[in-house]
Amino acid sequence: MKIIGFLDVVNGFAGLVCCNITTGFAEWCLFLENVVCECFLYVSKLRLLVIDQAKNQGVKKYPLVLMLEPLFKCNLACAGCGKIDYPDDILDKRLSVQECLDAVDECGAPMVSIPGGEPLIHKEMPQIVEGIIARKKFVYLCTNALLLRKRIDDYKPSPYLTFSVHLDGNRDRHDTSVCQKGVFDIAVEAIKLALSKGFSCHCQLHAVSG
Ligand code: SF4
Repeated sequence: MKIIGFLDVVNGFAGLVCCNITTGFAEWCLFLENVVCECFLYVSKLRLLVIDQAKNQGVKKYPLVLMLEPLFKCNLACAGCGKIDYPDDILDKRLSVQECLDAVDECGAPMVSIPGGEPLIHKEMPQIVEGIIARKKFVYLCTNALLLRKRIDDYKPSPYLTFSVHLDGNRDRHDTSVCQKGVFDIAVEAIKLALSKGFSCHCQLHAVSG
């Protein structure tokens, strides 16, 4: 069994928010306030659907989101990231397509969030995503977007697929947060490209104190 863990509604979705590209911090905050509301509305609807199904089947507890982490390796080195501190033998590990799909089947949650590491590094990620979509599950494919331009044609737009791009604020804030200059601009361009190709694109904000 390769299920890494479940998140509850609040923890699982607090960071998964719709995104327009904004560069002003005030606009950013206002926008986040709106999208968080939108996000909870969406989750509430989905949750009601799952509750209905669970009730019909006499099930009292059920998973809503599967957090599937097929690798910990990343192409960034953000301060405070716990994943990239693992030793090389862990960072070199990958879950296979079959292991991922077995976890999805075993969990049964209607949403699968794929964080990392950086999922787009995984050579079989397109097959993993395709397999999850074939099961009519919603996929949140989290990415720092550095590889999105290069890999985007490996994926097909689908109502079940959303690219969830890591974006912590305006240019200075984001580049400081990920400890590398220029990443904000790459992420914004990648989001525009994804939208132009018909993909759904959200962004996730990481808030770290201290
Ligand atoms: S992009 Fe995510 S996984 Fe990669 S170093 Fe930053 S926080 Fe860690």
